[in-house]
This record gives sequence, C-alpha cells and structure tokens, in this order.
Amino acid sequence: MKRNVVVTGSTSGIGLGIARAFAQEGANLLINGFGPADEIEKIRKELEAKGGKVIYHAADMTKPAEITDMIETAISQFGGIDVLVNNAGIQHVAPIEEFPIEKWDQIIAINMSSAFHTMRAAIPNMKGKKSGRIINIASAHGLVASPFKSAYVTAKHGIMGLTKTAALELAEHGVTVNAICPGYVLTPLVEKQIPDTAKARGMTEEQVKKDVILASQATKEFVTVEQVAACAIYLASEAAQQITGTHISIDGGWTA
Ligand code: NAD
Repeated sequence: MKRNVVVTGSTSGIGLGIARAFAQEGANLLINGFGPADEIEKIRKELEAKGGKVIYHAADMTKPAEITDMIETAISQFGGIDVLVNNAGIQHVAPIEEFPIEKWDQIIAINMSSAFHTMRAAIPNMKGKKSGRIINIASAHGLVASPFKSAYVTAKHGIMGLTKTAALELAEHGVTVNAICPGYVLTPLVEKQIPDTAKARGMTEEQVKKDVILASQATKEFVTVEQVAACAIYLASEAAQQITGTHISIDGGWTA
C-alpha cells in the first residue's frame, strides 16, 4: 500500500533528499518550502514520476493557521498521514548581544514550534489509525552547543524535548516519534552561514570550513543528504516499531 508522507521544508537540501527517498518507494507526498514556482513544480513532477501522488503546499512554518491547513490538506487529499517529517529550518549566526530579535523569533518558530503545530494537527489522524511515524530533523546542535548559534541551539534542544514528550503520549497508539541529529551536511543552509561565521570569528571562509565546520566532525567529512534520508526511511520502517522517544546521530563522531 502506498504510504502518505508529509515533509516540511522539502524544496531544498535534506528535506528534498528525504522526499526523494520516500518517492523512490512510490509514496504519496506533500512537499512544502520556499522557492521559485517553476523550480518547485519541476521537483513536484520529478517526484510524481516515481508513481505516487505529489502535492505542494506553500505553508509558511512561522504561521500556525497555514501549518494546520497543510496537514488538513494532506489528510483530505490522501485520506491520512503515515509519516510526518518535521524538517524545515533556518540558521542565523551572531553573538547573543547582537542577535536580531526577529531572527530569534523566526528560528524558534520554524525550527521548533512548527513541529508542535504539525503534530497537533496530525496526531488525531495517526491515533485513529493506530499507526504513524513522526521524524523530527534536529541536529548535533540538539545535543551540544556552539557559540553564536543561540536561537538554533535552543530550538534544536527544544525539539528533542518535544520528541520525547510526544513519544510517551503516543507510545500506546502505534505511533513512534524520533529525532535525527545530523552533523554538517553541505546544503544551502550551511553554505549560507560560512560568510557570517567567518565574520563572527574573524576568519577567512576557507578557515571556517576547515577549522570550524570539519573540526567538529571526527571523520573530517560532510554527512550526505542521502545518508540522512536513508535514516528517515529506516525510522519509518516496520523494523523500527520499537524505536521511539530517542534520536539517531549521523554526525561523523562529532558528539562522541
Ligand atoms: P536548506 O536551506 O537546504 O532547506 C531548508 C528548507 O526549509 C527549504 O526547503 C526552505 O524553503 C524551507 N523553509 C525555510 N523557511 C521556511 C518556512 N518559514 N516555511 C516553510 N519552509 C521553510 O537546509 P537543510 O540543510 O536541508 O536543513 C534542513 C533541516 O536539517 C533543518 O531543520 C536544519 O536545521 C537541519 N540540519 C541541517 C544540517 C546541515 O548541516 N545542513 C545539520 C543538522 C540539521
């Protein structure tokens, strides 16, 4: 049977990789995120060519009413949600005393609160079916901190707490809730923070890549989008039914 999958922030990077991996299984997909309309339509068509129905919803993850509408759309179009992947996220790098208040609010909303809003809307459907998978894309920064990333680290630690709480609430309803904690994946999110990190630390961009980014990762290699996607597929599988309320790190040894 085709599974119905919602992936937030799936027009780019990790979310797109996860959408591609589920499409490969022929899943029906709701994709979401920003970008030029023609590029999004190209992605939608590419995913749909794998056999499932693919719809795009433009919900802004800072807007609870739009998030609720997105989940209701998936339920009405597909008849239910089997897998919910909370992936949308942004970054901003600055010292706390210079951190723009609106950036703080935006990061807390997109990287943390949006998962509360999607879950709130999707859980009654999953409970009703006595099955479901919720996968939250946290980060190594859900487990450890780095300077100049106060909002991101706070939001990612918060999503770890939400993951555990939801797992306990849903444990007897056939629904698992887990987080994936990637280290550095070379996506637009990471590429964009290199100049700001360079500025905040007084380094060149090359030094940031070598001495800041890959310094954290014991393997000295970037994690790939495909590796994170494969982990999501595993957490959504039958084999992972007893894995709940926890996280899987894919961080090249960073948090060891
Ligand atoms: P990315 O910038 O490539 O993609 C982010 C996606 O989120 C895009 O589709 C974007 O349009 C969407 N998005 C941003 N703001 C949105 C909003 N307000 N409403 C709806 N969608 C919105 O970034 P990525 O690296 O693929 O990051 C995806 C997730 O993985 C994030 O939660 C990020 O924190 C997490 N993560 C990334 C890394 C990394 O190294 N890249 C490491 C650990 C965790």
